[in-house]
Amino acid sequence: MRILVLIAIGLLLYIIVGSILRKNKQSPLSSESAEKMVSCDHCGLHIAEKEAVSLDNKYYCSEDHRDAEKK
Ligand SMILES: [Zn+2]
Repeated sequence: MRILVLIAIGLLLYIIVGSILRKNKQSPLSSESAEKMVSCDHCGLHIAEKEAVSLDNKYYCSEDHRDAEKK
């Protein structure tokens, strides 16, 4: 009887761990929220680094603000 209980617990763990791993893989939002945020050097707006316009190690929310700082 004890072996059956162990098998049942093992199966349960297998299902739980499997579902957790699957959940982590299927959430594209988690990688997006972990994305690095930068703030615009001109207006202070926070944007994702990949969407920011960078110049001289500074980030801007748009090309307009990058150009505004150049002048
Ligand atoms: Zn800006």
